[in-house]
Amino acid sequence: MAQHGFLPRMQAYFFDLDGCIYHGDRLSAGVVPLLDRLRQQGLSYVFLTNNSRLGAAEIGSRLEAMGLTVPDDRILPVTDIAGKYLRDKYGKLSVKTIGSDSLARNIAEAGHTPIAWDAPGADVVIVGRDTEFHYNKLQRIAADIGHGSRLIATNPDRYHPGQFGERVPETGSLLAAIEAVTGKTAECIGKPEPYMFEQAMQLCGAAPDSCVMVGDNLETDIRGSRQAGLRSVWITNGSAPGPAAEGGAEVLESRSSAAGFAPSGPARPDVVVNDMEELYQLVMQG
Ligand SMILES: [Mg+2]
Repeated sequence: MAQHGFLPRMQAYFFDLDGCIYHGDRLSAGVVPLLDRLRQQGLSYVFLTNNSRLGAAEIGSRLEAMGLTVPDDRILPVTDIAGKYLRDKYGKLSVKTIGSDSLARNIAEAGHTPIAWDAPGADVVIVGRDTEFHYNKLQRIAADIGHGSRLIATNPDRYHPGQFGERVPETGSLLAAIEAVTGKTAECIGKPEPYMFEQAMQLCGAAPDSCVMVGDNLETDIRGSRQAGLRSVWITNGSAPGPAAEGGAEVLESRSSAAGFAPSGPARPDVVVNDMEELYQLVMQG
């Protein structure tokens, strides 16, 4: 059977956003007809993103501006599940948010008590992509962790690609500074951890073996979906040979290291395609 032979059995498709659904402010070719096809077939889809700055409504407006209309409840950014994650796992807490206003709002709406960054102590210090991170914050966080605050991060990504391919510092880069000074390792919420995949499956009422994750990051999208028991499709954006090519494994390993993570175990996708257009063609083949 062809590698993609499982696709017709899938009930739910999960898509990463950046590098899959869009590049910069441009919607990827194949996305609109692919989503139309899934809707016609009565299949579920959810967008799963490690974006820790924007909520679903903000991302929905962004997609709308690119020409794609998606209901907010189909968009699952880590920004919107962080508060629920903390409540599900630890109950209501005092939380210091090092990140965007949207992240802080989500955490407050989940019933946690917000603590200002420069106030002493909190049950949890949660770190997202804080574009106003600075030395004094680092000092204050280090003191909190030293006094017993739990260190939790929205996502482990060290950077994401900017509009011109430049590296934009992500949560993981800030976290590296905090981990260096405290000697602690953060607990992460977003991909590749299972929580976000579990939330998406719950939303669709689907079991792991009937869900497929489509993503461009081997370390978060592909490794995470494999660990959660899902099938996966890797969008290479032209950086690896096609599905039938030999030597794909080496390319995967080198991409793994290039993604800014220490590779640990295989992050092998079930299907490898160049782009969404190619995935659309595979889905149409049935
Ligand atoms: Mg991506």
